[in-house]
Amino acid sequence: MTTPDFTGKVALVTGGGSGIGAAICRQLADEGAEVVVADLDADSARNLAAEIRSVGGRARDFAVDVTDAGAVEKLIGYTVETCGGLHLAVNNAGVDGPRKATADYPLDNWHNLMNVNLNGVFYCMKHEIAAMLQRGGGAIVNMSSALGSVGLPFTAAYTAAKHGVVGLTKVAAIEYARFGIRINSVGPGWIETPLLTEHIAIAGSRRMEALQPMGRRGRPEEVAALVCFLLSEQASFITGSYHLVDGAYTAH
Ligand code: NAP
Repeated sequence: MTTPDFTGKVALVTGGGSGIGAAICRQLADEGAEVVVADLDADSARNLAAEIRSVGGRARDFAVDVTDAGAVEKLIGYTVETCGGLHLAVNNAGVDGPRKATADYPLDNWHNLMNVNLNGVFYCMKHEIAAMLQRGGGAIVNMSSALGSVGLPFTAAYTAAKHGVVGLTKVAAIEYARFGIRINSVGPGWIETPLLTEHIAIAGSRRMEALQPMGRRGRPEEVAALVCFLLSEQASFITGSYHLVDGAYTAH
């Protein structure tokens, strides 16, 4: 199979400054897309966009908090105005939460996690779909998790939000299938990123290692390869589905 070709396409990636999002931005740019790196961390977005430009790619940066629906609308408006449209979007920004049993889960942590990991995806899709309808189609990937299909004790908010992303993806995919917009979700297992480092600090590494059938964690580039395939024309009949990249974590 040939590699995807995104020449002439404009791609937006939230949480694009770090970890999985950064790997997706690099691969999209390598394959010809003009990339808008959007992140809460303005410095990481700026640095990654500069890195991509330094190797001949096309990239811009935009500081955004995906929990702010107005700011998300401005991000999509900026992308359409400065890049001439929006063809591809990856709603990837996400945070981890505390390890607490459901009855003990703090309300403020619950609301914060739902705001970033589920509401943020909804706000982004709402404006991305509107922009894609204007130009006659596009492709969206929403970042779920292996915990979008199975439960892990003491992660009520994260697991609920990631299951929510899978459901939201299915509904929107059906609604817009006839309008040329494909929408899928991706479920990574344990991937080596700053977010996982934070998770391990809380959950403990020995228990984490016991959950790795392949004896290792995944790499951000291994998730990016799946995301780029789903965004590409090679995936032209794939929409509304949830795709694992988890090294058999959920096969147990
Ligand atoms: P990461 O390295 O921490 O990157 C996440 C990025 O999102 C960070 O740059 C973060 O900025 C940004 N972000 C956080 N809140 C935001 C907000 N409100 N608005 C905009 N940007 C925000 O994490 P990652 O591991 O690459 O995770 C990326 C996605 O993959 C997440 O949705 C995560 O749930 C999912 N995922 C990860 C794993 C894994 O094992 N790593 C597994 C399954 C799913 P700050 O650094 O400023 O917070």
